[in-house]
Amino acid sequence: LVEAGGTRFLVDAGLSPAVLRERAAPLGIALDRLDGVVLTHAHSDHASFADACAFAFGAPLFLTESTQRGLRLKRSPPTRVFGPRSAFTIGAIDVRPCPVPHDAPQVALVFEEDGRRAALVTDLGSVPPPLVAHLAGCGAVLVESNYDPELLRIGPYPPSIQARVAGARGHLSNRQCAELLARLDRGVREIVLVHVSENNNSPMLARATAEAALAGRTQTRLRVAAPADPLRIEVPRAPHQIRLPF
Ligand SMILES: [Zn+2]
Ligand SMILES: [Zn+2]
Repeated sequence: LVEAGGTRFLVDAGLSPAVLRERAAPLGIALDRLDGVVLTHAHSDHASFADACAFAFGAPLFLTESTQRGLRLKRSPPTRVFGPRSAFTIGAIDVRPCPVPHDAPQVALVFEEDGRRAALVTDLGSVPPPLVAHLAGCGAVLVESNYDPELLRIGPYPPSIQARVAGARGHLSNRQCAELLARLDRGVREIVLVHVSENNNSPMLARATAEAALAGRTQTRLRVAAPADPLRIEVPRAPHQIRLPF
């Protein structure tokens, strides 16, 4: 859930409205009407409840044309199609997508309201060159640290799925994630590792790899998101923020 300036929208909809309401409650958030449901891509862990959430929260679905083609919806909510490289606005919040390589058309997203920026970077097999500049000025970055190569190799997935996960259009390993973190602005204050595989990774390994890459950044807080535990992230204003042409 992204909330700022009186605007609230959901990013991705892999959980039912009932489960989302349950998860939001401990944070003191009552999920009722939302200003949008934004999809990053069409995979089921991100989109299987897209129509259910859009109807439950009275919100239009924001998605790319490729994601729209990849969805199998039971009902058709109102939709707003955005280009994978075109900024758009939902209420008070500007949203800037950046395409990333995955085995479904996928975008990383930067959210901005009144000078505060946050990013969600998940489901990508490699870091495309424009991504680091795209994340400039973010006070908070949620980034995928999906798998450890050794745990993937000895894990439960068949070789074909292992190759998919580790491929250039799969997911980021802990090491790839750490390499991206090391290249981020020093102004980043909050980093949250997300999409940490329960089969092919451990939160401790993911954290240790990221910590090594962030050594010396005493002002940056690193957290690992657990799949079912709600987490609140306050987005600080990044110092020395560079204004990008929007
Ligand atoms: Zn995913
Ligand atoms: Zn995916």
